Formats: sequence, structure tokens, C-alpha cells
Amino acid sequence: TDLAHIRNFSIVAHIDHGKSTLADRLIQSTNTVSEREMKEQLLDAMDIERERGITIKANTVRIEYIADNGEQYVLNLIDTPGHVDFAYEVSRSMRAVEGSLLVVDSTQGVEAQTLANVYQAIDADHEIVPVLNKIDLPASEPERVKEQIEDVIGIDAEHALLVSAKSGLGIKETLEAIVHRLPAPTGERDAPLKAMLVDSWYDAYLGVVVLVRIMDGVLKKGDKIKMMQTGATYPVDRIGVFRPAMQNVDELGPGEIGFLTAQIKQVRDTKVGDTITHEKKGAEKPLPGFKPSVPVVFCGLFPVDSAEFEDLRDAIEKLALNDASFSYEMETSAALGFGFRCGFLGLLHLEVIRDRLEREYDIELITTAPSVIYHVYMKDDTKIDLHNPADMPDMSKVDHVEEPRIKATILVPDEYLGDVLKLCQDRRGLQLDLTYAGNRAMVVYDLPLNEVVFDFYDRLKSVTKGYASFDYQMIGYREDNLVRMSILVNDEAVDALSMLVHRDRAEMRGRAMCEKLKELIPRHMFKIPIQAAIGGKVIARETLSAMRKDVTAKCYGGDATRKKKLLEKQKAGKKKMRQFGKVEIPQEAFISALKMD
Ligand code: GDP
Ligand code: MG
Repeated sequence: TDLAHIRNFSIVAHIDHGKSTLADRLIQSTNTVSEREMKEQLLDAMDIERERGITIKANTVRIEYIADNGEQYVLNLIDTPGHVDFAYEVSRSMRAVEGSLLVVDSTQGVEAQTLANVYQAIDADHEIVPVLNKIDLPASEPERVKEQIEDVIGIDAEHALLVSAKSGLGIKETLEAIVHRLPAPTGERDAPLKAMLVDSWYDAYLGVVVLVRIMDGVLKKGDKIKMMQTGATYPVDRIGVFRPAMQNVDELGPGEIGFLTAQIKQVRDTKVGDTITHEKKGAEKPLPGFKPSVPVVFCGLFPVDSAEFEDLRDAIEKLALNDASFSYEMETSAALGFGFRCGFLGLLHLEVIRDRLEREYDIELITTAPSVIYHVYMKDDTKIDLHNPADMPDMSKVDHVEEPRIKATILVPDEYLGDVLKLCQDRRGLQLDLTYAGNRAMVVYDLPLNEVVFDFYDRLKSVTKGYASFDYQMIGYREDNLVRMSILVNDEAVDALSMLVHRDRAEMRGRAMCEKLKELIPRHMFKIPIQAAIGGKVIARETLSAMRKDVTAKCYGGDATRKKKLLEKQKAGKKKMRQFGKVEIPQEAFISALKMD
């Protein structure tokens, strides 16, 4: 296809504003797939994505459209991940296209992820077409939302399209706008090959599949290609496009988007954002702006049943095949036995992986509290990247500790603003900005990531009854007065419960944890002291008193079946416990104890 008849675009939206529905409608109305093949939400493949209504991996589809001017166009849609954890993947896929449809739910208006995603599109120099969706609903307020788009985002919304992705209203106009309002790609057919590696995943039949956007040159089957970041070379055994099913083609030229397979063994060998060129007569300089995506949130994953460790290892290795941004290494904990310390792009990413392990592989897990990477500067001038609070060296040898900070943007209806400010303040936030857009406030805070990774989303949701939207980006590391707090149960430190806390908050956090644990740990035949300590100094203490009677004593007379049932119940409960010294700690203690309310 010649460049003038190609349009490449993405759809940016806040979750639930209708991105997937619109994509489906565009595919359907161009007869890209037959009615029979048309499943609801074609582009959201994975179960978890469907359930949570989020798109995790970028998907792509090639649509052929005959416009009102009689000409046939190829429209390539890249569906970007909608969530903050995958911001880097979003930014790369944005660089692979020239324009965006900005979908805003006309009953809701601009939300935090609308902003985050549209800024990425603006950064990538996109032409942006605003689409007001859900205009079939009585609560739709297109005029108010147009104004809001102009005020908050600062783009012209006068010619915003009025669409109902559900009923199909405005879909024709959307296709015409893609053709006439978005620019055609540019590129040189005769130049050395430059293809951007937009995404990659593992396919059970084809092995690693690589999604590429050709910038310059031509990619053909049988070509020998080179990854410019890693230097690895491969012969290309298949190229094709997504309609949305894979369809082989002979070549991909400038401006085109498609896939290649090349007997690449692991997804890890393909770096998102890398430039692919020919091994011989290749490009000299890669495309600008490559940066590897790195995990920022870490936690321990341990099997509840220690006999399942090998199963967990297999499952984790399989998942990692398909997700290069997830890292893992073996970890042993005195409290929890053998498990893995895993790194994630963010909290949602963590939840997705944990869910998949539990659901698809049927392994019950204990998840330790998420933690960030601290920079620990030692008095002897060495520096440690601390992934696990349990590994914190003796404080007397530590000069200072730095923690990662984020810039968080929260949009919230007026009436909840006070609660949001209090929450951010409680989490050691520094307010950077506060503005209004209609009846919504937009607050920007500088917050320690550590205070956010744990239960910030949950707290934010609950104090705003679900009306707040939230997005963040990393801004760097800053020193603060951070110390390691250990938790001792029956005088033994439980490594999986240790954490770094701000010195000024240590007493409060320590007290809250001891109280929580006192509720969570069942009584034993003896008295159990529960303590929080910094270095050798105890800062909080609770005592769990001894159990007076055997549980079965509650049964009267000699009802043997009842007694047996109770004992069985007790045994089942025990399976979810971890023996620690003489004390049994239930699995939920490891996560619940750290929740702050
Ligand atoms: P995404 O998270 O942006 O991909 O949003 P979805 O496409 O999954 O849509 C979220 C919800 O809004 C779903 O329940 C859709 O059925 C619904 N929805 C999407 N578009 C429309 C629309 O134009 N009108 C109405 N009434 N509902 C819509
Ligand atoms: Mg979706």
C-alpha cells in the first residue's frame, strides 16, 4: 500500500470510557471479520483483562476501509494498554502511529488516565480527534465535556465526534475522520530497514511473535534481521498482519504495522522500543528514545503449601516467558520457607501475575507486602539497592537511605477533596498543585512510592466512593529518615513482616501492626508477646493471652461426630497457617497486618 492510503492510530481513553467497544465497532462496520466471528470485545483477549475491563498487552488490527471519496485505505489500530503500570509500553506504541482518537465518556468527562494517555499522545506529536462516546445515554453532556477537554487538556474540541460505540451511531463519521483528519505516515522505501519493536509475546504455536512498525525500508520473509539493542540476529520465517487473526503477507513496507516470527526463543530477547534492521546494509543509528522497562515494585510470593514450591517455580517460569517486564529470583524466608522475590512494573501488574498464578495454575499463595527499591548508602561509601526490607543492613553502618518518589495526579469530585488531601498528607505527600475543572478538583502530589504501593488505591477508592481517578509517574529518589522496623512474635523476628518506615511514623505503625497481629494470630496454649522494634529497641508491644480451654471442650456430652467435625475444621484451618517457632501464623496475617486504616 502506498503511504498516502495508510492511517495508523491508537485510541486513548480512561478505563471504561468505551475504547474496546469502539474498536470492536470499527472492526465490525468495515467487515474486517464476519458477523459470526465477531465476539464481544475482540481486542480484550485474556480472562483477567475481560473481568477487570482493562487491556494489558497492546493489540493491533488492520482494517480496510473504502471512504466516501471512493478510495480504499488501510487503517492500522494499535490498542494500547490503559493502565499506568504500562506507561512505557503506551509511550512506545504511541510512537508507532501518527494519530489518536481521544475517547471520553460524555456522561463522565475527563479522568486521570484520560490525561496521562493524552499527554503521551501529545508527546508523540499525534494529531488528536476527540470522540465523545456514550451519547445514547440520557446523562450524556457533550457540551460540558467539550468545554472540559478544552480547559483541562487544551486541545480544540469544537469538532469532537458524537458517538455511541454501543449503538453504532457516529461510527461512519469516525472512520471518515480517521482518513481525513489524521496524517498519513512518512518513510522511505529505499532507505535501510528501520522497524520499531512495539510489542512481543509468546504464542504456543509460533513461538515469540514480534509486533513491528516499519519506519523505513522493506521487511521480507527470509530476511536476516538484527536487533540493534541486543545485537542478536535471526532469519525471519514469517511476516504478516492482524485482521485481527494473523494473516501472512509477502512484505511490510514503510508506514505498515505487522508481525514477524524468527525462531526467537524468549520474549526476553525482544526489547520493546528496540530498532530492528537488516543484518547486512542495516541502519546505522537506531530510532531515538529507547529505554528498557524496569520493575519498581517487589514482593515475595510463597506457596501456602510448601510442597507446591516446584509447581510455583514452573508456573512462574511459564508466565515469565510471556512477560519480559516481570522479574523473579528465589528467596528463602525463615517464616515462609522457599519462594520467589518478584519484581513488577506496578501494583496492577503484581495483581495480574498473582491472580494468574492462583487461577491458571491453581497455586495458593502468600504474598508479602509490596516494597519498592531503596537506595541504601553505607558509611563505607558503598551503595546497596535494597529490594527486600528483610535484607536491610545494620542501621549503625548506614549513612542514609533514599526512597523513590512519584508525582500523583488525582481527579476527584469536590465533596471528597478534603478526604483525598488528608489521605495524601497521611502518606507523607507534598502538595504540588490544586486546580478545578468544572466541579472536579485536580490535585497533584509528590508522594513516596512506598506509601502508595500498598493500599493507597483501596483507600482512595473507599474515601471517594470510587469517584476518584488516579495516575502517577516516577520522579526520582530522595533521602528521608527511614528505618527498618522488625516484628517479633514470641521473641523471634518474623522476616516477612519487616518493613522500612519513616522514623516519625514508626511508633504509630508499630502499634497498629502489633494490634492487628494480636487479632490475627489465634491463641495458643501459652502467652505470646508481639513486639515492634527498631534496632534493638522495642517501640510497641501487645500480648496475646494463652488459650484457656481446648476447643472441643465447648461440646457437651459425648457427641463424637460433632467433636470430630470440629477437629477437622481446626485441621483445615491449620493448612493455611505457617508454623513459626512455636507459633502458628495464619497466611492472611502477612498482608492484613500491613494495611493501615
Ligand atoms: P474500555 O475500558 O475503555 O475498553 O471500555 P469498554 O469498551 O470495555 O466499555 C466499558 C463499558 O461501557 C461497557 O460496559 C460497554 O458496554 C459500555 N459502553 C461502551 N460504549 C458505550 C456507548 O456508546 N453507550 C453505552 N450506553 N455504553 C457503552
Ligand atoms: Mg478495554
